[in-house]
Amino acid sequence: MKELYAVIGDPIAQSMSPAMHNDLFQLYKINAHYHALRVESVNLADAVKGLKAVGISGFNVTIPHKVAIMPLLDEVDPLAKSIGAVNTVKNENGRLIGYNTDGSGYLKGLYADLPSPGNKKTLIIGAGGAARAIYFTMAHEGVKSIDIANRTPEKAETLRLECPYEVETEVLSLNQAEENLGDYDLIIQTTSIGMAPALESEPLKLHNLKSDAFVSDIIYNPLQTKFLRHAAEKGAKTQNGLNMFVYQGALAFEKWTGIFPDVERMKQTVMKQLGGSIC
Ligand code: NAP
Repeated sequence: MKELYAVIGDPIAQSMSPAMHNDLFQLYKINAHYHALRVESVNLADAVKGLKAVGISGFNVTIPHKVAIMPLLDEVDPLAKSIGAVNTVKNENGRLIGYNTDGSGYLKGLYADLPSPGNKKTLIIGAGGAARAIYFTMAHEGVKSIDIANRTPEKAETLRLECPYEVETEVLSLNQAEENLGDYDLIIQTTSIGMAPALESEPLKLHNLKSDAFVSDIIYNPLQTKFLRHAAEKGAKTQNGLNMFVYQGALAFEKWTGIFPDVERMKQTVMKQLGGSIC
């Protein structure tokens, strides 16, 4: 019988995960299928019970369930617990175990283009769920100093205070970050600003960006945000959000199957899916 995998969220029709994982199952000759399942918040507990009852092998969790799913699982691993969100679940001998591969996927994708981010003076722009996963994971991996700039600095301060790993952090407003941008070697843009359809917005101006900085934007639709375009025009090396998306999926696939998959192939699958919708 085919093994069962899924992603649950609401909305879910736009998810590119089924195409990515089903292609990998075919590639590695694994008799499994990955479904996109729309689960409304009110039905989350029943859905998790049902998925467990039918013996699902694993599933991804996306907006709006990444936090709400945690108490419904049998166990949550320590990093996911500290991040406060789960995006990957594995059925281990009938027990559902939650993990978070967003931050580790981001870092693995970053390392692919920038081998030693630990030595870089780093700024994260944004303090939402994705920023939290990236900030906590970088701190967990031993990055010593990471500043955070956010529209609502209080939220960045909360991240700083709640991070259980040792890291030096200064909290900045977006204006302060814009002014002091020349201090940073690595800038990680995690806000939703610049995402389709709001293509003309950017979180801050890049007048003070160093020309040898590395600028990463976790948005992948569009593949080049206005922010990234301006960074490239200033001479910076840039990376879009495709790496994070593909590597978080690759790490989930590895947890489920023991195989670290072909990420270049995964990127091609996602690019094909994005084909019609990139603005
Ligand atoms: P979130 O929790 O809602 O956080 C949103 C962040 O954006 C907050 O820092 C928020 O600031 C800021 N923001 C939103 N609108 C703003 C505005 N008009 N002006 C200034 N700041 C604004 O969202 P998330 O889950 O972290 O996701 C953020 C982005 O990352 C989305 O575009 C998402 O698609 C992308 N993402 C990509 C991947 C990937 O695999 N590549 C994975 C996860 C997320 P405040 O705190 O002041 O509200």
